[in-house]
Amino acid sequence: MDIDSLKEKVAYSCNILAIEGHWDNILGHVSARIPGEQKILMKPHSFGFEEIRPYHLIVCDLDGNKVKGDFERHSEIFIHTEIYKARPDVNCVVHSHPPYSTAFGSLRQPMRTVSHEGSIFFDSLPLFDYTTILIRTAQLGQEVARTLGGCRGILMKNHGVTVVGESVEVATLYAIFLEKAARIQMLAMASGDISWSSDEESKLKYEQVYTPHRLGTMWDYFVRRAKRAAIE
Ligand SMILES: [Zn+2]
Repeated sequence: MDIDSLKEKVAYSCNILAIEGHWDNILGHVSARIPGEQKILMKPHSFGFEEIRPYHLIVCDLDGNKVKGDFERHSEIFIHTEIYKARPDVNCVVHSHPPYSTAFGSLRQPMRTVSHEGSIFFDSLPLFDYTTILIRTAQLGQEVARTLGGCRGILMKNHGVTVVGESVEVATLYAIFLEKAARIQMLAMASGDISWSSDEESKLKYEQVYTPHRLGTMWDYFVRRAKRAAIE
């Protein structure tokens, strides 16, 4: 994929996340691995997710240094760089502070398949509770990567979430679906004793609902929604 297409995708990821429950002032960030290079594209500091356009994106190396771009980098870049180093299969990292997932993380409850979306995470969502402060050093980034292991995402206690994927599309969609799964599970928990799909049905459901083809059509839909919502 050429760099311009990747920039466009990362910008849409930011715009989509703003609409789909991940907006938090100017906080939160998305990055993507630049194919064939030890570098990443990343949303800069000082802008809200909905404001990001391809020209905003900065290029950083895997030590966390900005090497290109007009804008300031986020201090928590080490979440991204240390995950890319530890997970060659990951090409996109989303870090944000969505309200339901953040509240859910404080409950220390396992994610269940209460809704379809829970099937993505019921066996792939560790809780990062090493610290609740910002991840501003490579050492803390390594702890994040260690907690993530081979999973699709983590809840970060009293902080937010980090979700990864093999593509910008997958990481973005899974971040959206994590927030929905947390919202629905907490709605159920607040209403009484909850029930959930078995592990076996969860796995089947995941294979039925989140096929590469369906994820592709879902991404296209969210891009259309973001285009309609754009103010410029
Ligand atoms: Zn954060």
